[in-house]
Amino acid sequence: MTDDKQFSSLDPQGEEWETLRAEGHRMLDMMVDNLMILRQQPVWQPTPETVRQRFRSAPVPKNGGSLEDFTAAFQQDVLPYGVGNRHPGFMGWVHGGGTAPGMLAEMLAAGLNANLGGRDHAPVEVERMVIRWAATLMGFPETASGLFVTGSSLANFIAVIVASRAVKDGLALRRSGVGGRPLVGYAARSAHGCISRAFDLAGLGSDALRLVPLDGAFRMDIAALQNMITADRSAGFQPFMVVGTAGTVDVGAIDPLADIATIAEAEGLWFHVDGAFGAMAALSPYYRPALAALEKADSLAFDFHKWAQVPYDAGCVIVRDPIRHAAAFAQTLSYLSREDRGLAAGAPWFCDLGPDLSRGFRALKVWATLSVYGTRELGRMVDHCCAVARHLAQRVEREPDLELMAPVTLDIVCFRLRSPDLTNEELDTLNAEVVKDVQESGIAAPSTTRINERLVVRAAIVNHRTVNDDVDRMVDAVLMFARQRGLRSA
Ligand SMILES: *Cc1c(COP(=O)(O)O)cnc(C)c1O
Repeated sequence: MTDDKQFSSLDPQGEEWETLRAEGHRMLDMMVDNLMILRQQPVWQPTPETVRQRFRSAPVPKNGGSLEDFTAAFQQDVLPYGVGNRHPGFMGWVHGGGTAPGMLAEMLAAGLNANLGGRDHAPVEVERMVIRWAATLMGFPETASGLFVTGSSLANFIAVIVASRAVKDGLALRRSGVGGRPLVGYAARSAHGCISRAFDLAGLGSDALRLVPLDGAFRMDIAALQNMITADRSAGFQPFMVVGTAGTVDVGAIDPLADIATIAEAEGLWFHVDGAFGAMAALSPYYRPALAALEKADSLAFDFHKWAQVPYDAGCVIVRDPIRHAAAFAQTLSYLSREDRGLAAGAPWFCDLGPDLSRGFRALKVWATLSVYGTRELGRMVDHCCAVARHLAQRVEREPDLELMAPVTLDIVCFRLRSPDLTNEELDTLNAEVVKDVQESGIAAPSTTRINERLVVRAAIVNHRTVNDDVDRMVDAVLMFARQRGLRSA
């Protein structure tokens, strides 16, 4: 050994424990202070070049420094330059706003440093409890199986895998691969891009996902779905699943889930619902009926990190039939070799239900959120966001220079600057530029999407902190920047 000081774990020594504690308290104060002044800050500001350069040129640290210096670097170079989704003016993408209890629970989870891949310990019971709660809230039986994952992208992928293994002789696909099996599935054109990527990753190929046209209300056209299934069968394909979306990412529409369930049942197809953010509307007595058909779904993907405000990341997949879920992922040998007692008991393990072995304790911050707020308050928050969205839609309809581009079902509003002087292409450019102006102003952060080929401004009211004033400020800014760019009022 060449070092003069002997190694003695990475923990503090002696007096250092008190320094650690004091620094921890300072970090907590910093984050609470920051939450309290959120509204006075810009929603978003670009990361300055000097800060970017510090990250891009920093060498690997060879000798350690103090925790205090690390905190100072975070406070100076990271904290002011986040995405902005905690801010009430953030409405560009479907991002949750987070909560303080979620933040604190995340610290506890890291403090415990639990690995929820498997084995017999209380954190696993917490995840099972939260999955059971989620299942019953969403119209699944208590016995349903489920798993926390990064987000709905992975949750949807897991559902595609389980569904494709649930076809006749489907478990053989685990060894032989899907090559040669003409499996095809269906989702509306408005489905999130991760569904097509899930087909790709599952080895089915993204062409195996048939995109069903939309009806006039941006929902899956049921007659078209039926025709496509029939046509695929006569062409020799093997339809195996249909994906309905509860809350589409562009306009927030809800596919006709009950009709899809009926077709899926008659055709013997797996019925999966992508409820990434929209499933949370089940917590509102007002919106729950629109999601009643979830009780007919075979599986559901949704996020706690979007409308449920749990800090990133916290996606969830629920599968009605626990046997089919485990059958698609468990590796038979390891599954059978689990102990009946001791630390290696407690099968099935979460690693039998998805692709991950090591897994963090995501369920703790969800437990914290549900236990601090309760489902009733979260349901009221969902209603509040939808009410703010309706306020925005009404404001848009009153403004002569704006037009509403899609009906408002939940919490997403799509609108567009209009002018008799400009062509559609010129309006596309104007809308896109104005959205960037508004984002860079720090006043609000809307985004854009395309509806019927036209570029539109999109505002998703997912943050529990957003109020009517925030959406009015956003509209004021859109109109102001449009005029600065020469828009003349009608
Ligand atoms: C956000 C979203 C996804 C993807 O979820 P992630 O958590 O970002 O992986 C999938 N589907 C819909 C409808 C979404 O809104």
